[in-house]
Amino acid sequence: KKPEINGDFYDLSDLLTPEEREVQLKVRKFMNDEVKPIANEFWNKGEFPMHLIPKMAELNICGVPLAGHGCPNHSYVLEGIIAMEMARVDTSISTFFGVQSGLAMGSIYHCGSEEQQAKWLPRMQKMEILGAFGLTEPLVGSAVAGGLTTKARREGETWILNGEKKWIGNATFADFTIIWAQDEEDDQIKGFIVEKNNPGFHAEKMKNKMSLRTVQNALITLNNCEVSEENRLQRADSFKDTSRVLRATRAGVAWQAVGCARGAYENALAYTMERKQFGKPIASFQLIQDQLVQMLNALTSMQTLVMRLSQLQDAGKMTDAQASLAKVSCTTHTREIVDIARGIMGGNGILLEYNVARFVADAEALYSYEGTKEINSLIVGREITGISAFV
Ligand code: FAD
Repeated sequence: KKPEINGDFYDLSDLLTPEEREVQLKVRKFMNDEVKPIANEFWNKGEFPMHLIPKMAELNICGVPLAGHGCPNHSYVLEGIIAMEMARVDTSISTFFGVQSGLAMGSIYHCGSEEQQAKWLPRMQKMEILGAFGLTEPLVGSAVAGGLTTKARREGETWILNGEKKWIGNATFADFTIIWAQDEEDDQIKGFIVEKNNPGFHAEKMKNKMSLRTVQNALITLNNCEVSEENRLQRADSFKDTSRVLRATRAGVAWQAVGCARGAYENALAYTMERKQFGKPIASFQLIQDQLVQMLNALTSMQTLVMRLSQLQDAGKMTDAQASLAKVSCTTHTREIVDIARGIMGGNGILLEYNVARFVADAEALYSYEGTKEINSLIVGREITGISAFV
């Protein structure tokens, strides 16, 4: 009898509450039934499967750890499990979801006034409204904390935004994008809810990506784009507030990396048991088994790390450095795991239909977004030495 293919080797699912486990299985079913059959096709076309959004909304998982305004008020552990289950089948879908549920909803939740939360969060939770998060710029990536070239000038009750944003996920179709801009008056970074039909706002789809091709990233231009004071995030006064949003979502990226690695490991393991060479399944060769165990070893450390990370988050104790270390560790291990997975599949490892190649490509974006490996390392370095080494 063939053993079950299961990358959760230490049964971490057993630590979940019955309610969390139920949501995990619901998301798993959705990903297997609805996403898996079309994932390669949409990745190859570089298009987003818009038809899935109403079905995803039915899962009632948007803004899962947030409380109030129709949000489920579940645990951060569950939020991580959802990210992992999505990425395990399609890392693009988990990225789309992370932008909506983590970055966009998180910005309004952490930095919006009570009125702004009441206006936007309930419909975002139901996915009737989609949001995007615009921080990175063509000329300012890692250095966003040091100042942005996108400027905001106040004229009475109106703000005038000018500048450019790059890489902004979901922004080609989102109903609004949170634009982070530097106030010309006090030089502080502020957040603005910029609606898609706002004159002066233009989002152009970025082409030629070799990673997360299903995610629609945009190059945004803001040309004297007028935003009312009502749409300025009322509790975003400096980059420290932007960082509060990023701290939570960085933990989510670590979980996504676990999902990406787990998908590649499980698909490669299944392949080694089917594929025969020299008259035997390649899984029977010692060198192949060693590589399978190498993947499982790294995957298991990653899983235990993110589980503990989210427990700390649920206890309100997670630090920036803990989130950053998990992001560094998981995205680095994921690159190693997908590399081994691809190698043990021989030539078929680079064909999309064998369901490992997509993970190899998608691991690259995880490694760089929401703070590159180096930037997250510097956050940890600052914490353990007390010395900031960014510049
Ligand atoms: P750069 O900052 O130019 O870095 C280049 C290299 O220099 C990196 O290796 C970096 O680590 C290194 N480096 C920079 N500074 C230092 C230093 N002080 N010490 C050591 N090394 C350093 N942004 C958004 O705002 N919203 C989104 O929705 C979004 N989605 C994205 C989706 C994808 C697929 C990708 C690839 C990116 C996305 N981003 C998004 C942008 C992402 O956050 C940035 O790519 C990332 O912050 C790095 O910036 P950069 O690409 O400009 O690299």
